Amino acid sequence: MKEKIGFIGLGIMGKPMARNLVHAGYTLYVFSSGAASVRELEKEGAISASSPKKIAELSDIIITMLPDSPQVKEVAFGNDGLIEGLSKGKLFIDMSTIDAATEIEIHERFAAIGVDTLDAPVSGGDVGAKAGSLSIMAGGSKNAFNRALPLFQILGKRINHIGATGAGQIAKSCNQIATALATQGVIEAFSLAASAGIDLARLKEVLSGGFADSRTLAVSGERMIKRDFSPGFKLKLYTKDLRIAKQAAAERSVNLPGTQLLHNEMQQLVSEGKGELDFSALIHLFENN
Ligand code: NAD
Repeated sequence: MKEKIGFIGLGIMGKPMARNLVHAGYTLYVFSSGAASVRELEKEGAISASSPKKIAELSDIIITMLPDSPQVKEVAFGNDGLIEGLSKGKLFIDMSTIDAATEIEIHERFAAIGVDTLDAPVSGGDVGAKAGSLSIMAGGSKNAFNRALPLFQILGKRINHIGATGAGQIAKSCNQIATALATQGVIEAFSLAASAGIDLARLKEVLSGGFADSRTLAVSGERMIKRDFSPGFKLKLYTKDLRIAKQAAAERSVNLPGTQLLHNEMQQLVSEGKGELDFSALIHLFENN
């Protein structure tokens, strides 16, 4: 018999991920602070629950897809939190992008009551969440990973067990470093082209045929050309990801000068009130020079 799933956090990523699980025939209990998304999923067969505690009581496996560590901790340990409803043998999977230290803390507290955990952040954006083609990078025990695999195969295409608890989040930081710097590359190329009067759509087409080709160029480059900054991936969340990456690097004495630069740029735009825009809005900084 299929395990019963609880899903918490129905935003840009969580809603389509939860939808894919319902459509795959899972019994799915949902909880989120966005009431409209909950109603939408109820119409498609999900069952709404009144608290994380209730989700934990009703489900065998609980997934969270929340903005950052404070929200994950609140859901796990706050009033009517998961910890009040969990019992031995259940599995907790956090698919949010948060810091590895918080995942280790959650793992230790849940392990004490017989609940295993995985950190399993994703890459692939809203497009990948809708298509069920996310890249999933998991940290935790092999047993927990094997148990989660049937769910991961619905949500994603490239699914990897990276290592112990926290390793999934470190891999996700690596992903964010690489994609942030690729974004900077696209923006600088576009800035030079625009200053020389070159059509950006034509430039993108040319760059797509060679070594400059990337998903960043395809997706973020297209958004920059179309001036479509509706999220996508919110700039404020990307800023959070680079803060986490910097912290992980500092703890290991690793120098990340490019990441530092990008983090400063992102923070500047967030302080100008642009945090809710897609991160491709970073191009604004260069246009204002
Ligand atoms: P979002 O802001 O669209 O969604 C977050 C959801 O969590 C919202 O529905 C919100 O109502 C809910 N929520 C917040 N606090 C809550 C709480 N205490 N209890 C219950 N529900 C709560 O964010 P998103 O873009 O879906 O991102 C979610 C996570 O996935 C983040 O960690 C982000 O970094 C990561 N991520 C996002 C993308 C992307 O392209 N958007 C890609 C990969 C990973």
